[in-house]
Amino acid sequence: IKITELKKIYRSEELETTALNDLSFEVKKGEFVAVMGPSGCGKSTLLNILGLLDDLDGGSFIFNGTEVAKFNDYKRSDLRTENIGFVFQSFNLIDELTVFENVELPLIYTKLKEKERKKKVDEVLERMQLMHRRNHFPQQLSGGQQQRVAVARAVVNDPKLILADEPTGNLDSVNGNEVMQLMTDLNAQGTTIIMVTHSEHDAKYSHRIIRMLDGQVVTENILA
Ligand code: ADP
Ligand code: ADP
Repeated sequence: IKITELKKIYRSEELETTALNDLSFEVKKGEFVAVMGPSGCGKSTLLNILGLLDDLDGGSFIFNGTEVAKFNDYKRSDLRTENIGFVFQSFNLIDELTVFENVELPLIYTKLKEKERKKKVDEVLERMQLMHRRNHFPQQLSGGQQQRVAVARAVVNDPKLILADEPTGNLDSVNGNEVMQLMTDLNAQGTTIIMVTHSEHDAKYSHRIIRMLDGQVVTENILA
């Protein structure tokens, strides 16, 4: 990922908010990067753009060798479905679907046949130690288990990039550490991870911390 002088401005009737102000940074394939900064500095806006959920008002965004700054919704959506998995603070599971069905969701619109799909979902559930909760509903699970389901859903498609928005924000420290260990394992297998966090502890799992202020990068710390 190479972002150069990225600009995002929210406009309403008479108000203009510059959320990202000539933001530049690079993330290499296989890196694990933490993004930190105070509330309102533009982290969510940045994740939405990195996740190809939102457009930008200026600058360049190279994703996997392609300039995507001027992509329309359809092209962004195609690229997103194929390449990106999302993990959120609030899990964002669908309460009416079982664990299995939640994890199966990203595969529904792929070319995979039903049998291959089921096999893939069960493989991921196995990896996340969730087979015994396969037919449970999210509300019947602990927070840690729910986040493991969300991680399973994010990775079932073998995405190149995982975007995580405070993935441990609603978890106690034991479950939080477990989720961070999962992230570390996924990264060790080659998945690039960009994670927004308020937690210095969680940030230490990454290779590099990008610190933001007022829509810009202020410092970068390389960790061992
Ligand atoms: P966002 O950055 O997405 O706007 P918020 O800043 O509103 O998110 O906070 C998200 C969560 O992180 C909340 O649970 C909040 O209590 C917590 N939080 C916010 N700032 C800090 C901080 N400096 N240290 C620890 N937790 C924080
Ligand atoms: P963070 O995630 O770091 O808390 P955000 O990306 O949510 O920061 O917000 C960056 C700035 O953009 C803030 O000043 C916020 O008020 C503003 N902002 C975010 N979303 C919108 C929106 N939909 N409309 C107008 N302003 C917004």
